[in-house]
Amino acid sequence: MNKRDTRLSGTLSAVVLFGVPVRFHFTFVLLLIFLVTAGFGGGRSVLLDVVFILSLFFSVLLHELGHAMVARAYKIRTLEIVMYPIGGVARLEKQAAPGPELAIALAGPMVNVVIAGGLYGWMAIWSGGAQQERELVNRIAVSNLYLAGFNMAPAFPMDGGRVLRALLAMWKGESYATRVAATVGRFLAMAMGVYGLVIGNIFLLLIAFLIYVAASQEGAASAGRALTHGMPVRAAMVTEFETLSHGSSIREASERLLATTQQDFPVVHGDRVIGLLDRHTFLRGMAVEGADVYVSQVMDREFLRLDPAMDLAEALPLLTGATSCALVMADDTLLGLLTRENISEFLLLRKLGIVPDARSGERRIEPVSPE
Ligand SMILES: [Zn+2]
Repeated sequence: MNKRDTRLSGTLSAVVLFGVPVRFHFTFVLLLIFLVTAGFGGGRSVLLDVVFILSLFFSVLLHELGHAMVARAYKIRTLEIVMYPIGGVARLEKQAAPGPELAIALAGPMVNVVIAGGLYGWMAIWSGGAQQERELVNRIAVSNLYLAGFNMAPAFPMDGGRVLRALLAMWKGESYATRVAATVGRFLAMAMGVYGLVIGNIFLLLIAFLIYVAASQEGAASAGRALTHGMPVRAAMVTEFETLSHGSSIREASERLLATTQQDFPVVHGDRVIGLLDRHTFLRGMAVEGADVYVSQVMDREFLRLDPAMDLAEALPLLTGATSCALVMADDTLLGLLTRENISEFLLLRKLGIVPDARSGERRIEPVSPE
């Protein structure tokens, strides 16, 4: 298991399937409570309903694994699959090129079509089973077709939105494609929201809201990618920062935290970097171990390290969730820090056209240790 915590907040612990961590969002528990209190409704037996819901859940999971496996074929790692009550999300480490994105997006719905096809095939040769059981298999098959169809709606974060973007990107470039796809996504979300309001369906309203937010985020993320693509990490890193000695206490660290604007501190032993004390580890250490413990006892030893020449657009998605800071290192020499705040400032400057592209190449830090 990767100790570095890149997971989304609000999720419970993970199970690992085919090398991909699968997490459950806490709202899943709310769904279960809702289902139990709602008594599953209808005249059907509770057992069949449980089987039905579990099958749906596995169908969604297989759908997400479909995305993850095709992504893997294109050498793109899936950071995690998060299961929400309204569906799953496979978070990939980076944005795929249009061709692979098309294949990755189509893989999910294809899985559901294959499941439905398999179930219908099985029903055709399997003549046994009670009426109720046959109905159940039929319901699962229909639901899978529904899942495939619903996901092909051309709205982010639905797969159809990604298909639309990939197709547009092949033709007109990524930033145009994302702008159009995000606009279509927001428009569809609003239409869905209005419809949900009219028919009084709160669930539909909720999905519409989530799609709207996701479409807006996707648009912003794409703008960020456009502004950082082709820029090396070293162009955006913090180069003036303080470090903590491995012998410092949490109390001393908190003094540095107050005295500076810095929130993440590399921990060094001599001229060797041995860990990172970021906000999260600092607060956790303070709460669990108290102020007098050494920073080396609570720091993150498996911190995120980035190569100074790495494309900033590829580094962006790594700084998500609990990971707010990365150390930029050439071999074992610490060159700088890359934080989310600094990236935001960098993006702002780029938007204003203040950071000239040429600067990226000039900003070199001489290694601290003589070699
Ligand atoms: Zn999907």
